[in-house]
Amino acid sequence: MTSPPFACSASSTGKFGKYGGQYVPETLMEPLKVLADAYLRFSKDPSFKKELAGWLGQYAGRPTPLYLASRLTSHVGGARIFLKREDLLHGGAHKINNTLGQALLARNMGKHRIIAETGAGQHGVATAMACAALGLKAEIYMGGEDIERQKLNVYRMKLLGAKVHPVESGSKTLKDAINEALRDWVTNVEDTYYLLGSVVGPHPYPTMVRDFQSVIGKEARRQILRQEGKLPKAIVACVGGGSNSIGIFHAFLSDMEVGLYGVEAGGRNMSPGKNAAPLVAGREGVLHGMMTYVLQNTEGQVESTESISAGLDYPAVGPEHSYLMSVGRTKYVTQTDSDALDGFRLLSQLEGIIPALEPAHAISYATKLARSLQKEDSIIVNLSGRGDKDVDIIARQFPQ
Ligand SMILES: *Cc1c(COP(=O)(O)O)cnc(C)c1O
Repeated sequence: MTSPPFACSASSTGKFGKYGGQYVPETLMEPLKVLADAYLRFSKDPSFKKELAGWLGQYAGRPTPLYLASRLTSHVGGARIFLKREDLLHGGAHKINNTLGQALLARNMGKHRIIAETGAGQHGVATAMACAALGLKAEIYMGGEDIERQKLNVYRMKLLGAKVHPVESGSKTLKDAINEALRDWVTNVEDTYYLLGSVVGPHPYPTMVRDFQSVIGKEARRQILRQEGKLPKAIVACVGGGSNSIGIFHAFLSDMEVGLYGVEAGGRNMSPGKNAAPLVAGREGVLHGMMTYVLQNTEGQVESTESISAGLDYPAVGPEHSYLMSVGRTKYVTQTDSDALDGFRLLSQLEGIIPALEPAHAISYATKLARSLQKEDSIIVNLSGRGDKDVDIIARQFPQ
């Protein structure tokens, strides 16, 4: 393979241009180095790769189909819209690609206690699944507020044999759970592996999680070439921490004719605190060990966020996205809560697929983009997850 015109791998210090890095207390430097070294070693080890491919195929359900949404395409009247069906994976989302990869790495490193943070509970559930399957002990940190809001996922994690630790500090949500998990890791680093849920945090997580998710784009590129005989005009994916989007973008980075669109949560509107769109509305800053775009107020305090989809409700974003935006390779846009609900309804009723509210943002933007393209063109939307988890929220919005 020829290398793309972008430094698409982080440097040895985990920098994507000036983004990324390791902005952590001294006590975390050594565990991060051990992890980075182990990842580098295993990522080149053919038997590790084979073992992971086996789990992805036999357990998670890869490869996922690339589906031509023909009724949605006719309804929109423009480019052909293909869906990469990550919603069909075990657990109902792309998250299992990452949790299987990291859990397998942990086991190979001889670590049998896994800790993780979770916001809405989706990453916690995916971690609990991978740990149960691989015979590892899972302990999940979750904000007290989130535990209240996501009772079903808390129960799922327990059913899967995981222990859930409520976090009662700060805002009792995701960012407090991350802080608590980091604290646990420093204290118990001998036998404990910290399994992070997206392409965020200090090096090597953004690189490692991206590698585990890049299977999405590798498959999609092969599939679109086979099915259409040419590359798509665009790829569209929703951006929370940024893992499903970077996962599908990566294989297309050096295909300059393919537009790469990340869709952030426009929430209620673009005023401060009412959205979760750090790339569109944030500024450069440091959060959770990385230098990246962060939603912050004029004093540099992290801004509160709002989105109908819990998975997009995060004030920062993976550093590689910040880099790709800065060199102009990717574009970032927003769709509001109400746009996402439109996307949700369209896909459910025209295709019989109930999407998660996160990729419903991407569906909504894709319909607008498709309309501006030709009928011979195609675009791929990453359908990162299914919507069963969101039916309650929808029912409250549309009681009829
Ligand atoms: C968690 C989640 C997301 C957001 O996370 P990324 O790291 O940005 O991919 C998107 N879609 C679904 C279905 C999710 O569960």
